[in-house]
Amino acid sequence: MTKNSSNIMALTPNTSNKRETVCIFGTGDFGRALGHKMIQSGYPVVYGSRSTQISNLIPKDAEVLGHAEAAQKAAIIIIAIQRQHYNFLTPLAEVLRGKVLVDISNNLKLNQYPESNAEYLAQLLPGSKVVKGFNTVSAWALQSGTLDASRQVFVCGDDVEAKQMVMDIVRALGLTPVDKGSLLAAQEIENYPLQLFPMWKFPLFLSLGLTAFFFLYCVALDIIYTYIYEKNNFSFFIAITIPNRVCPVVALILLALVYLPGIFAAIIQLYRGTKYRRFPDWLDKWMLCRKQLGLVALAFASLHAVFTLVTPMRAFVSWRTSKGIISQALNNKTEPLNNTNAWLSDSYLALGILGYFLFVLLGITSLPSVSNNVNWREFRFVQSKLGYLALILCTAHTLVYGGKWFLSPSAYKWYLPNIYMLSLVVPCAVLVVKFVLIFPCVDKRLTQIRQGWERKPKYSE
Ligand code: NAP
Repeated sequence: MTKNSSNIMALTPNTSNKRETVCIFGTGDFGRALGHKMIQSGYPVVYGSRSTQISNLIPKDAEVLGHAEAAQKAAIIIIAIQRQHYNFLTPLAEVLRGKVLVDISNNLKLNQYPESNAEYLAQLLPGSKVVKGFNTVSAWALQSGTLDASRQVFVCGDDVEAKQMVMDIVRALGLTPVDKGSLLAAQEIENYPLQLFPMWKFPLFLSLGLTAFFFLYCVALDIIYTYIYEKNNFSFFIAITIPNRVCPVVALILLALVYLPGIFAAIIQLYRGTKYRRFPDWLDKWMLCRKQLGLVALAFASLHAVFTLVTPMRAFVSWRTSKGIISQALNNKTEPLNNTNAWLSDSYLALGILGYFLFVLLGITSLPSVSNNVNWREFRFVQSKLGYLALILCTAHTLVYGGKWFLSPSAYKWYLPNIYMLSLVVPCAVLVVKFVLIFPCVDKRLTQIRQGWERKPKYSE
């Protein structure tokens, strides 16, 4: 037997609070980090390793023994070993019988094996009680104590008592156990660490696609067309003018796309006459990432606000303003104030400011720290009612700003519509259909369906 430190006991304050010894198989990165944390929390730790040689990397107060000998010292054994080496456990089946085995392993790819690692371990050692846990915590976070972002430890297992024992350890380490049910949930838990912002993928790719499309569209119409037909070099538009056109357009379309799946869902429910049938997969996924779509839209709207604020600082703008003043001075004539233009510019600015204010409010209420503090009705009021109001204001802002070009032939360069017209298609469609859906006769039927009414009841009395 090798003891790393013979006379220092773990931080167990007194016998009544004495913690059970925990065994960890494997003295790799994770095994060492977890052992270190456990010793700090008062658990005596014994390692089961292929080598009982002491290394100064191993926590000072831990014992290092052979696997069989170490397993006999504890009721809970944490398997800090990669899945591909699990077959070394088969000869230990008798020693491990009745013990709680904690599978903490992860894979390199999503659904790498037909069954989860924890289920595989349970198949190899049917006499042991396998619990999945700790796989979403990294060795680095355990070691450095930076666990703020990942305090939750997902736990699952078929034996309720065994699961409870593991959850007690999780709590003692200052982490929060989340019971995910039976061992069937292990596959899902093993997939968590492999996911890279799953809900953000669609909103990010969509916004990048829209940005690229509208950017090239503007380059073609505002720079290339002007260069070919008007011999003006406006290539510097790439820096601020075009981004300041593209950002509000993308923001408005994304905001409309937050509300579009709700419209589709309502139409599908009205058509089917029931809510007891699943939506198509694409609609389910779209609904789940509405918050992320809204936040990306808010980021684009914020960029638009910043680009607009720096407009007076631009050389092109000061040149255009001074050109106007000089031409008035040369003609010795002051242009009268165009009241219609003054109204239009003040209105679109006011609509934009109000729309942006509501947009920010929507973003703030979607943060978990805020949404956890409002009830469901309040949350729905902000996200649905105020959200639609934000969409109306932002659509009106674009309409007032871009509307003047709709009937002007000069706006149709190469017979293509202006970017503002394109940006209004989705929001206007959403608002028109929503308007129809809130008609009392339609709304009443939709409310009935959402309360369980069915046109053709499945189970008629
Ligand atoms: P590691 O540093 O490679 O350590 C694995 C340990 O397994 C080795 O140190 C060795 O311990 C033991 N081992 C290796 N080959 C073996 C064999 N053929 N037979 C028996 N034992 C063998 O890996 P790790 O990073 O600690 O990860 C261990 C497990 O934790 C993996 O399943 C991983 O998915 C999971 N995990 C790791 C992290 C992390 O941040 N590292 C986070 C979550 C989950 P001995 O030399 O003492 O025998």
